[in-house]
Amino acid sequence: SNLKNIFKLYNIFILLLILFFLGLNYIYQKEENNFNNNKLQKLTNKAKYINEYFSINKAFIYSLKDVLSNNLQINELNHPAYNEIKEENTTYNILCVLDGIESSLSGIGKLDEIDLDTVAELHSVLYLKPLFKTILNSKHNIQWVYYTSAKKFLYLAPTNKIFKKEFLTNIYKKEFWTEAIPSNNPGIELILTKLYDDAAGKGYLTTLSLPIMNNEKFMGVLSIDIGLKTLNSMMEKDDLVGSIYLVNQDNEILASNKEFEINSVLKRGNSTFELSIFDDTIKLVYIENIEEKIITILKTSIFQILLLIFILFIIYMLCYLLILNKKVENLANKDSLTSLLNRRAMRIESKKLLSIANRYNHFTSLLLLDIDFFKDVNDTYGHHIGDLTIKEIAKILSRNSRESDLISRYGGEEFLIILSNSNKESAYTLAERIRKEISLISIENTDLKITVSIGCTEYKKKESLDSFIKRADLLLYKAKDQGRNQTVKA
Ligand code: GH3
Ligand code: MG
Ligand code: MG
Repeated sequence: SNLKNIFKLYNIFILLLILFFLGLNYIYQKEENNFNNNKLQKLTNKAKYINEYFSINKAFIYSLKDVLSNNLQINELNHPAYNEIKEENTTYNILCVLDGIESSLSGIGKLDEIDLDTVAELHSVLYLKPLFKTILNSKHNIQWVYYTSAKKFLYLAPTNKIFKKEFLTNIYKKEFWTEAIPSNNPGIELILTKLYDDAAGKGYLTTLSLPIMNNEKFMGVLSIDIGLKTLNSMMEKDDLVGSIYLVNQDNEILASNKEFEINSVLKRGNSTFELSIFDDTIKLVYIENIEEKIITILKTSIFQILLLIFILFIIYMLCYLLILNKKVENLANKDSLTSLLNRRAMRIESKKLLSIANRYNHFTSLLLLDIDFFKDVNDTYGHHIGDLTIKEIAKILSRNSRESDLISRYGGEEFLIILSNSNKESAYTLAERIRKEISLISIENTDLKITVSIGCTEYKKKESLDSFIKRADLLLYKAKDQGRNQTVKA
């Protein structure tokens, strides 16, 4: 029966283990759901923020265009600063300051030799100064704002050592120009360049460039430069565990919260999520890091997992205690050899049964059974065979009794059976059947013939348990005296 208990406990353990994995799965699914919702929320917010950032810059560049286009339409527009432009050999330049922001115009050529259209363009461009100031003061972290003319001049803010003095024709090779000019941009649209190294040493940047036309003629390009650092910092905000990339239409990476090679094309894995922003010209791509995701989810659900383990542990301990309790109860009430009631439990149960019999006038009978010449069995075949015999007899007794009967091993080789709802006659019949069955027992490797003597009596109302047993004991003694292997009733 010990083995049976261990087996039961083992089953409970397996069951709890299954429950643990089901619970773990449930918790994980729930937290994963939260994680995904949270991620989606953050990415959507980020996309919105970036979209806003680019939209404002777009608004800036279009207001520059409006001012410039209008100015180009005005005949004989005059800007006072034009007369202060300084000339050096074949170059000209002017430094303008407005509320602490320096802008500079520098070009190639001699002012008195350049054509009237270019003169008008120079006057128009100088009027961009207040807007340049507004844009640079806007806290949008703009690196440069400038107008590059096809007529070899540049109006730039904030100014820079290089461009303050001279115009370098190599800027016509830079992406902000090459990608924007009508031959490469037939739609004359606002473009966002790939990342390129700044000619004036501000590191990598991307440019919003808009070609300017006047009477169907290409004049130059308006540009706003956004630094890589600014873009990257927008990627890094929020504690998203995956990799976030900002890519252009050609899938070239513009920014990320992870290290990346400039102008490399983004390779997308399976668990990718993307949001289109800025009129589909750029995309925010999120690539999940499965490992980090699992760790994050487990971290957030650690309390729930511990609680689950704790609850299952408590359940296991309760089962363990229940089984232990049952074991202790069995040890206290049951005979270990036969699993029949022991003498102590028999007396307690009998008293309960007799009080019911008294109240309801039930017939109750008692059989007291003793094995004949059992000392000889032990002496001849040893204690082991003696024990085996006792077990066999216990089995026969259990087989022949009803649920409501009490069967006990009352002494070493003495058995006491109380039969409820049974009178003396039916008790005698049962006793005789038991006696005959026992006489048929055969024990392995022996030619043992086991017999028993039985005292059989009926309960008298209000009688004590002890006097009930005493009467049976006397009848048993009589059975022994009359030659054993018989039942004596009275
Ligand atoms: P009788 O017919 O007069 O009853 O003769 P008996 O030899 O059975 O005499 P008695 O009832 O006095 O002897 C009881 C013997 O039963 C004593 C003891 O050796 C043996 N016995 C009692 N309990 C156990 C037990 O648990 N296992 C074994 N193997 N023997 C037991
Ligand atoms: Mg005896
Ligand atoms: Mg005996």
